[in-house]
Amino acid sequence: MLETLKATDLAGHAGYRDHEKVVALGDENTGLRGFIAIHDTTLGPALGGCRMWNYADEATALTDALRLSAGMTAKNALANLDYGGGKAVIIGDPRNAKTPDMFRALGLAIDSLGGRYITAEDVGVSAADMDFAAQTTAHVRGTSAAGLGDPSPFTALGVFHGILAAVSERFGATGLAGLTVSVKGLGSVGFRLAERLSDAGARLIVSDVNHDAVKRAVKAFGAATVDAADAHGAAADIFAPCALGGDLNVGTIPEIRAAIVAGAANNQLAEAADADRLHRRGILYAPDFAINAGGVISVALGLPGVSRRRVVDKVEAIGATLAAIFARARAENRTTAAIADQLVEERLLAARARSAA
Ligand code: NAD
Repeated sequence: MLETLKATDLAGHAGYRDHEKVVALGDENTGLRGFIAIHDTTLGPALGGCRMWNYADEATALTDALRLSAGMTAKNALANLDYGGGKAVIIGDPRNAKTPDMFRALGLAIDSLGGRYITAEDVGVSAADMDFAAQTTAHVRGTSAAGLGDPSPFTALGVFHGILAAVSERFGATGLAGLTVSVKGLGSVGFRLAERLSDAGARLIVSDVNHDAVKRAVKAFGAATVDAADAHGAAADIFAPCALGGDLNVGTIPEIRAAIVAGAANNQLAEAADADRLHRRGILYAPDFAINAGGVISVALGLPGVSRRRVVDKVEAIGATLAAIFARARAENRTTAAIADQLVEERLLAARARSAA
């Protein structure tokens, strides 16, 4: 059922050559189709969730797997986790194409990698799905029986501490009292972040395409509202993108009124040049893969015998990581994104040098 693609099959695929291993999933009995991409295991086994999505074709799914697994190497390295980066993607509609056997087949494929890749939930995949995968491999996190459960509260906690670090850097302040935050996206992470911000004395301007979520936030936090399409331009000190990716782009960046952008969404920059656009405007940007690592920290460390306090401490340390990124970006007059990338590279180089010695 498992076919390892030859490099020659994929020679043209962007990002493929940076990966240690890519496995094609094809199991006719269960309809499992997709890829497991292992980007880098310098720091430890590759840890990254399994995403199920109705990809148009295999090439699109592979592109996503490669991009996401490289992103996990960076996220895990910056979070100081002893894990590398990997990702699994399943092609199919998570609303109607899932079966328990499909996830058991995924588990078998993961098991054949001997622990080099560890999976967990991601978009379109639930703890119940991971329970089926766990029937055929031990290399699974985020099952309903083990771990700390939903990672979103940890992600929200990490983003909150990242915002505190950004406020200290930009305003020299130690809290959020009197500051206004535009929170775009009030889902699992955004709503909890809004709650923390509100409790800390921030004023909120909220937005979501789901109007019920907006109503709940208005009721719970006395928040003001803005149309989701205008959230980036709201009269706020901080813009916190917590919806989908791509909110920071050539069109939105000139309209941002906040001095800080710090939120949970993945892939906030539409393109790499957007980091320079933010830098030129003097907007302090918290790189997404640094600030939103709370969830993966909870998945990585949330093992039997590990105290919740230890996990929370590690998530709160995201604030210190960001403070270091901000200070170095200021000292070197470079973008925070470039500094975050460099820190990842430095950690990988140091680990390679240690293992070569
Ligand atoms: P979610 O699906 O629970 O919430 C997303 C919210 O965004 C929903 O309420 C949705 O209605 C809203 N939304 C979608 N499109 C929108 C738009 N155009 N304008 C305004 N609102 C819009 O997702 P989540 O788990 O809260 O994750 C939010 C973001 O954080 C995602 O980008 C996710 O990849 C990222 N992230 C999440 C975690 C986690 O632990 N859940 C970890 C790291 C990163």
